[in-house]
Formats: sequence, structure tokens, C-alpha cells
Amino acid sequence: MSMEPILKIENLKTSFMTSNGEVQAVRGVSLAVNKGEILGIVGESGSGKSVTSMSILRLLADTAVIKEGSIEFEGKNLIGVSKKEMRGIRGEKISMIFQDPMSSLNPLIPVGTQVAEMILEHHPERKKEDVKKEVLELFSRVRIPEPEKRYKCFPHEFSGGMRQRVMIAMALANKPELLIADEPTTALDVTIQDQILHQLRELEKEYGTSIIFITHDLGVVAELCDRVIVMYGGLVMEEASIDDIFEKPGHPYTMGLLESIPDIKQDKSVRLMPIPGSPPDMTNPPVGCPFAPRCPYARKICAQELPEFIELGEGHRTRCFLQYPDAPADEHNPFRR
Ligand code: SF4
Repeated sequence: MSMEPILKIENLKTSFMTSNGEVQAVRGVSLAVNKGEILGIVGESGSGKSVTSMSILRLLADTAVIKEGSIEFEGKNLIGVSKKEMRGIRGEKISMIFQDPMSSLNPLIPVGTQVAEMILEHHPERKKEDVKKEVLELFSRVRIPEPEKRYKCFPHEFSGGMRQRVMIAMALANKPELLIADEPTTALDVTIQDQILHQLRELEKEYGTSIIFITHDLGVVAELCDRVIVMYGGLVMEEASIDDIFEKPGHPYTMGLLESIPDIKQDKSVRLMPIPGSPPDMTNPPVGCPFAPRCPYARKICAQELPEFIELGEGHRTRCFLQYPDAPADEHNPFRR
């Protein structure tokens, strides 16, 4: 993996204009994805993780507006490129796997044809027989059994796991530089989930593709990713390597997420710790730390001001007042006891 960023997002702000007012879904996100790395983005529903990825691909609803910021990919700000140019980038240089493959696949067209069309759309000069051969190879690579026979099947003839493999084959058809996978294993059972994760890891090694893996599950991140970004209330709360996030989480929200991961070795009488409360209303986001109403360590200042980022080590930063150098060291500060 190289430390050269392939994608750099600076201060991204994306809102939805609704009849109830402006929903400030992403409120100033900055992040970078390095060449050949798998970056996990973790957070609950409404944290802004999916809107961040849809902003990259400009696949937002008509009510959405990118209000500020830049999304630099291969030296170009994607926010400024035309719709036509963006169509050329999507599926060719950046591709996406969604949670529900059934809604992304056309139910009336055989799966093989759909993957072939993805290649031909970007490379119309190619011969159909060569493209078919390539699709069959892709099917074998993502472990779809009997590729020749399966090529002609329709999406409803596949199981959920197999459909997701078709989506992976489609996403990889043009050997993209960046693959965005938005909760691709959430609807699958654990065994299939495990196989898909393993396959993504293999494909990343083979093609050197950078991957953004979006999930609400830190357990999945541990298995797959090199680095992780924890989002909450439309903001990045913590960023760290996988080792750091598990060994020394630097934010109370990350600690809450870690406590809610089931552990197979854990005593069954020990209950998992859910994070009480619900995410903030993004039509009226809090002025201070968005996690304050749910944070067991919140102080007066937390509801009044948004904490700045504090560097905790190389590549490890967090947004919490309790990590400030002058934060009190007492029993109410889990980081200074
Ligand atoms: Fe909790 Fe305050 Fe830290 Fe936010 S800034 S996570 S409310 S202690």
C-alpha cells in the first residue's frame, strides 16, 4: 500500500433541502484514501457516511446540494466536472457496490449481459466475444460457479450472496482505481459475509484497487480494513489505524461502538452495551459536540462548542474535549485516569 492519496476530500458539506428545512447530512468532512488501501467508514444510520460516498460519485437525490468543499480524485475536483464527464468516471475509474444488489440489477436482463454492458459502455470499440470472455473470467474470479451457465441467468435465479458477487464482478469490470462498497454484506448471512469480505481483500491485493468500505459494524472493519474513520452527526469523530482504534480508542462514541460488538468468546450472561439515545436531528444539528446528549462523560462545554481535532499519534486524531492537553484527569475522564 502506498501513502499517496488517490482521493482527497476537504471540508465537504452536503445538505438536503426538504419541506422540513435543510438537513445538514455532511457538515465538513475531510479524509483521504491512499492507493491500494481499504478505508473503513463506520457510523450509525444518519451519521453521514453514505451521503459522503454518494457525494463522491455525485449520485445524490435532486434535493441534495454540495454546499462547500472539494473532492479531489487524480488531481481533479469532482465537484466541478460536468455530468457527462462524471458518467465517464463512474463505473470506469470509481465504482460502487450497494447493500441491495436486487435494486441495482435489472431484473429483465441476464446478469452476464449486464456486466458486459458495463464494459461496452466505457469501451464501445471492444469486440463482444472478447468482452464475454472477460465477464466469464470475472465470474470465476468472484467464485460464481459454472460461469458459462450462470452468464445467461436472470437476477432472481441467484441467491443474495451470488447476486452480490455479480455486483462485485460488475464493479470490477473496468478495473476501477477506487471501489466504494456501501454496507455490501449487511443483508447476507455471516458465512457468506465472510466469503465476500475475503474476496474483496483478495481483489484489492490482485488489482491494487483502493476501497472505501462503509459499514455500521466495527467487527467487519477489523477483518477487512487498514484504517478507519468513525462518523457521527455528519462529522468525522475519530480517525485511526485498525490497531489503534481497537487498542486505544480515543473517542467515547468509538468506545460505545466497540462495546456493542458481540464477541464469540464472551460469557453469554454478559449483555452487550447498546449506546442509549438516538442520533441528532440534522435539520437542527447541535452547536456543540453532536454526541453530547448520549455521551456518559459530557460536560457543560460539550453542548456549547464543537471540539477541534486533537492528534493522538501518527494518523490518529479525534474530536473530544477530554483529549485536550488541559482536560481534567479524574474518574470522569476515561482517557486520563
Ligand atoms: Fe463526550 Fe464531550 Fe467528548 Fe463529545 S466532547 S465525546 S460530549 S466528552
